[in-house]
Amino acid sequence: MELSNLLSVFVPTHIIRASSEPYIENEMIVETILQAYTKLGLEGVEFYVYPDDAFNETHPELMKKYYEYLESIKSFKGLESIKINIVKDTRKTMRNNWLKFVEEDCKTPYMMFLEHDWGFADHIDIKKIINNFEKNPSVGYVKFNRFPHDDRMRSLAVAHNWDWIYEQEQDLDLDIPMFKITFYSGNPHIARIKKCKEFYIPQMLEHCPPKLSKGTSHLEKDMKKAELRSIDSLRDCGFSNQSTDGNKAWGHQWPLSGGNTIGRGCKKCEAAITEHQKKWGLYMLGDWGDNSRVFHLGEWCRKE
Ligand SMILES: [Zn+2]
Repeated sequence: MELSNLLSVFVPTHIIRASSEPYIENEMIVETILQAYTKLGLEGVEFYVYPDDAFNETHPELMKKYYEYLESIKSFKGLESIKINIVKDTRKTMRNNWLKFVEEDCKTPYMMFLEHDWGFADHIDIKKIINNFEKNPSVGYVKFNRFPHDDRMRSLAVAHNWDWIYEQEQDLDLDIPMFKITFYSGNPHIARIKKCKEFYIPQMLEHCPPKLSKGTSHLEKDMKKAELRSIDSLRDCGFSNQSTDGNKAWGHQWPLSGGNTIGRGCKKCEAAITEHQKKWGLYMLGDWGDNSRVFHLGEWCRKE
């Protein structure tokens, strides 16, 4: 099947430095879309750009200009043949726009999540990633690795309370290698729409309803909160990962280790975290020794 019938790209964006020094002619989003299109071979694949609607209330004039600019990029050199939809009826926060895209606008079985400030180091064979999904219904989410796959990065990921599991997947039939991971990140990734609708969204609404949301544009923070609570619901050792439950002592984490930064999980924690990875089907692309596949174009990109 043509890639264009399988994949659509969700591009959330916002006005940068709206209150201080508005950056309307956002060159990063042009670079992001161009790199994804050329380096990943996304001929015919539709891109959907979602500006955060919060700025419509606080900065309506800027928002009007930003929409005009976004419409204009369709005719920029190199972008003329890319199918870019600038979505008009967007919502406030990235989380809500992600919900809208998954539930209403996406017409393909897979989506690529691509914030407006990412670049790609090299070609990535997207068809192989889709084949991993097609052959393995348990796979729900595949992230592109932002860091090289080596021992140093693995220990950093764990030390930063991120990928508690970071192990090569060896039981599935894969066209391209992947690691099992623990958390749903907002870094560029591909997700199965059916899994989003039937599992990730219900999990998020159950464990991190809007009243618990950070209220920022970071889907990732809400999803992590939902996951920490989901993991807690799978174990009964009496401990919690973090302050997810005020009635529980917290401290049991993963992996089991003698290190002093993280660890001290018990066997029940291990079982819960392993089960959580299976239920959520979260993966990161790559093999040991691989270099980074994606990089941030603008660490300075902040909402104000
Ligand atoms: Zn425990």
